[in-house]
Amino acid sequence: MRTPLIAGNWKMNGSTALVEAFGKVFSQPGLPVNVDVTIHPPFPYLEAARRAFADTRLTLGAQTLNPLHSGAHTGEVSGGMLKELGVEYVLIGHSERRKLYRESDDHVCDRVLAALSAGIKPILCVGETLEERDAGRTMEVVLQQVGHVMAPLEPAQRARLAIAYEPVWAIGTGRTATPEQAQEVMAGIRHYQAGYDEELAQQLRLLYGGSMNAKNAAELLAQPDIDGGLVGGASLKAEDFYAICQSA
Ligand code: PGA
Repeated sequence: MRTPLIAGNWKMNGSTALVEAFGKVFSQPGLPVNVDVTIHPPFPYLEAARRAFADTRLTLGAQTLNPLHSGAHTGEVSGGMLKELGVEYVLIGHSERRKLYRESDDHVCDRVLAALSAGIKPILCVGETLEERDAGRTMEVVLQQVGHVMAPLEPAQRARLAIAYEPVWAIGTGRTATPEQAQEVMAGIRHYQAGYDEELAQQLRLLYGGSMNAKNAAELLAQPDIDGGLVGGASLKAEDFYAICQSA
């Protein structure tokens, strides 16, 4: 009953040529009927992507947003601007943003609220470091990150959120979580969510991220609580990403 969602996070990679390659590959038939696909290119490529993806199943995503509407914030981009470009999803709380740009749980929460008020669906990213996993703190860390954002939301707002579980030690390392490890955490997130509302918990889309590729995607996506993927490295080749979407 949950439509799978596969999101491609290009990070600070890509080019106009890559946008065009995606437009071409995704204009072929062959994707499962029941899958949502979103590409998150860097801001400068959003407009080109909008044009190149017009006749495909690809939707547009952004990698971050500023929580304010407008003003003297050099270099920043607001939710309203993204919405105007046709952006449907935005990543929030990616571990790279948390670490490299010092985004705290409060910053993450502000961005989620800003995305919702701009009419963009947030993909909230959470995950533990290797140190936290080794210390047996995985569930505590992940649920703290989830809870901080969920607590202030109204039920209608919670219903618009997707959550990506991305163990930090699996991102860009080639070291994927085993399907069992990923399933265990995702089941924990869904169970936590059921504490608010059982029906919403059953509708919540949970994505796995961290070295997902065309080889391991099917096994991960076959887990009962994994409803999609957030794909970094393997979303930089249109054919590889298309193959991942086919296994959803
Ligand atoms: P990766 O990145 O697939 O390259 O591990 C995932 C992500 O950071 O979203």
